Amino acid sequence: MDYRVEMQSSCLFCRIIRGESPSQFVYQDQLVVAFKDTRPQAPVHVLVCPTKHIPTLNDVQEEDNALLSHMFQVAKSLAVQFSVHETGYRTVFNVNAGAGQTIYHLHLHVIGGRLLSWPP
Ligand code: AMP
Ligand code: ZN
Repeated sequence: MDYRVEMQSSCLFCRIIRGESPSQFVYQDQLVVAFKDTRPQAPVHVLVCPTKHIPTLNDVQEEDNALLSHMFQVAKSLAVQFSVHETGYRTVFNVNAGAGQTIYHLHLHVIGGRLLSWPP
């Protein structure tokens, strides 16, 4: 089976998606789940993850374009749900170790609720 589709038993986020590891879900549909980050970097910090296992943004293919777009639509809705859409929020993909990626299952950070400096 395509390694990107197969659930990875060694992957924490695959286990969360399967309900085998606890998490605080804030959104769920066929394509993505969103849950609260356990080490929040701001008052609002949620992760939007595809239900299929894709390790990093580098592994995203043309066929995933609709999925990526959906992830941003969900991020946008979550920003409204958590009332940061007007004050401001950040969406981030960390890609590989040099950018701080620690979990190799694609996830979009949605961070807000405080002033976010730039550069990060
Ligand atoms: P990254 O460093 O970009 O790979 O992001 C991984 C994120 O997952 C970090 O912000 C962690 O705090 C978060 N994290 C780690 N374990 C869990 C967990 N069990 N539930 C929710 N978030 C987690
Ligand atoms: Zn996974």
